[in-house]
Amino acid sequence: MSSIFKPTEIQGVSFQSICQEFGTPVYVYDGEKITNQVKSIQSAFGEIPLKIKYATKALSNINILKLIKKAGAGIDAVSIEEVRLGMMAGFQTDEIMYTPSGVSFEEIEEAVELGVMVNLDSIPLMRQFGEKYGSSVPACIRINPHILAGGNLKISTGHKASKFGISISLLDEILTVIKEKDLNIVGLHIHTGSDILDAEIFLKGANVLFEAAQNFPNLKFIDCGGGFKVAYKAGDPSTDIQEVGEKVSAAFRSFCDRYGRQLELWLEPGKFLVSESGFLLVKANVVKASSEITFVGVDTGLNHLIRPMMYDAYHDVYALNDPEGESEQYNVVGYICETDTIAAERKLGKVSAGDILVIKNAGAYGFSMASNYNSRLRPAEVLVWNGKAQLIRKREEFEDLIKNQVVLDL
Ligand SMILES: *Cc1c(COP(=O)(O)O)cnc(C)c1O
Repeated sequence: MSSIFKPTEIQGVSFQSICQEFGTPVYVYDGEKITNQVKSIQSAFGEIPLKIKYATKALSNINILKLIKKAGAGIDAVSIEEVRLGMMAGFQTDEIMYTPSGVSFEEIEEAVELGVMVNLDSIPLMRQFGEKYGSSVPACIRINPHILAGGNLKISTGHKASKFGISISLLDEILTVIKEKDLNIVGLHIHTGSDILDAEIFLKGANVLFEAAQNFPNLKFIDCGGGFKVAYKAGDPSTDIQEVGEKVSAAFRSFCDRYGRQLELWLEPGKFLVSESGFLLVKANVVKASSEITFVGVDTGLNHLIRPMMYDAYHDVYALNDPEGESEQYNVVGYICETDTIAAERKLGKVSAGDILVIKNAGAYGFSMASNYNSRLRPAEVLVWNGKAQLIRKREEFEDLIKNQVVLDL
């Protein structure tokens, strides 16, 4: 049971010292882990022309984006704001893929003006795009492959009833619109969901694109999206990236032979690159026994980490001063006035008020989904890089909470 990795430091910098210097709650990221994850994908796919487009929405701090760039990857942005963050981090606009869902045409125009590749996700948008730009601006099409995949329906995006992409069953209409509007389609894209385990599922998705691709003579790339699963607890399976790399790149190679030209393969991992790099360090405010359950109330909640309540996600939690302890059973709960269980029925060492708890896998969809619910302030973010812990986002202050409020004289 205690085989799971429970670090108390990153690159020699102790969590204790990070809490002392920056306070709690605090998100801490191991920069080395992020760049290593990028490398593991690069090596798994071997020699094919591969482009990794990190899904910015997983963790969008500009410094994290800079590390991604340093590791040789580009980004996928789902909003014009993420495009701008990417540009601030130093990405050239041709390294940015823009994959919005149902945004206004004004936002699409803004993206074109900035020079990023637009991923078209509806037939009406294809028409509008074609009317305005014709073949002058190359674009990509997001296909919905009708594959139900992903850990949970909320994060499954490629099934028939999903709002995302253009149904593969509308292929004829897609081709008609391309012809009518003289669109220049250089990429085909799918993203079927998050927490996808099997190489076979990735292969199935890729094959839908490879087959459809024969109808698109101008392609430069095939984008297979993200969704690689990472382990959140001992015994959890995770995507075997080596196996996915070998199978998908072999299929891609033979596809390129059939297609008659060497294309690029694009991937958009989010969680896989940053989940394990992140830790949310929190402090126990109170230990409270009720008739059946002992609660540890901590100085965070669903306002900072919504995954447990939103997706029933499991995050490992341990006490910093006794990582392997399992003598007591607790429900670790947040301070929000709403049920916000972070971890239920967990065996930890004895916890006292003031102790630091570590919440694992907090890199992806942690801070980026944080809010000010209950008028709480969002935490600080710290990056450990080259053996040094540095603040990369200040803890919010009360002024931040009210700065956009317009107070009337009532
Ligand atoms: C969210 C998203 C991803 C990343 O998903 P992960 O499960 O974090 O890998 C990739 N592509 C698109 C278009 C997305 O919206």
